[in-house]
Amino acid sequence: MKMPVLFVGHGSPMNAIEENEYTKKWEEIGREIPKPKGVISISAHWYTDDIFTNNLENPVQIYDMYGFPEELYNFKYPVKGSEKLALRLIETLEEKIKVDNSWGIDHGTWAVLCKIFPKAEIPVVQISLNGSYSIEKHYEIGRKLRKFRDEGYLIFGSGNVVHNLRLLNPNISGYDWAYDFDNYIKINILNRNFKDVINYKNSGESYKKAFFTLEHFLPLIYILGASYDNDNIEIFNESCVLGSLSMTSYLFK
Ligand code: ZN
Repeated sequence: MKMPVLFVGHGSPMNAIEENEYTKKWEEIGREIPKPKGVISISAHWYTDDIFTNNLENPVQIYDMYGFPEELYNFKYPVKGSEKLALRLIETLEEKIKVDNSWGIDHGTWAVLCKIFPKAEIPVVQISLNGSYSIEKHYEIGRKLRKFRDEGYLIFGSGNVVHNLRLLNPNISGYDWAYDFDNYIKINILNRNFKDVINYKNSGESYKKAFFTLEHFLPLIYILGASYDNDNIEIFNESCVLGSLSMTSYLFK
């Protein structure tokens, strides 16, 4: 059975231990979609100068965020890895993926999957984002991953379409430019005009503040690459928080 592909705007890591409108939707998605054999996770937080995967059966959960309450650092999501899936990824992609088990499962992955698959029974393998690749190249890798959907794997991208930590503002939901950029991406996705998502600078002025580095945007590009023309597109959690973060998420099924 063809599995969906999913991009989630993850926002604050506190979502792992909170209940809110966003996490409720994540839980719903977990109940809605077919149970995958495994998850191929592309997290904004594994941004490297090469392309890596992890292949341990028991990967470490890493707490790659700073300044949060103790409770979050005690939160456990004891998910398994899959050596078999990692090997298949290495064989499938021509990009010469290297194995690096020093990173493990990061909060871009666990803070969301803990709501989607709360029993932690679905194995997870991460692939890192090679920061030296062009956006087109990331899209191509997403396309190569697409066939894993037909084998029963969920391709999961975790990032944020708008992610500007320098302009966070707790007093508003989103700046106008944040909504503008989020809308620009949404319209182009709905029109399946992925070229203008890849060429996000065609958005006019709004991209200039949407992010300064690409890592939270790139997981979305993989998901677009892994989509089929006949997928239905479901948009959920469409909103901005803290001024300069977009939670807008996409499910292709
Ligand atoms: Zn993040």
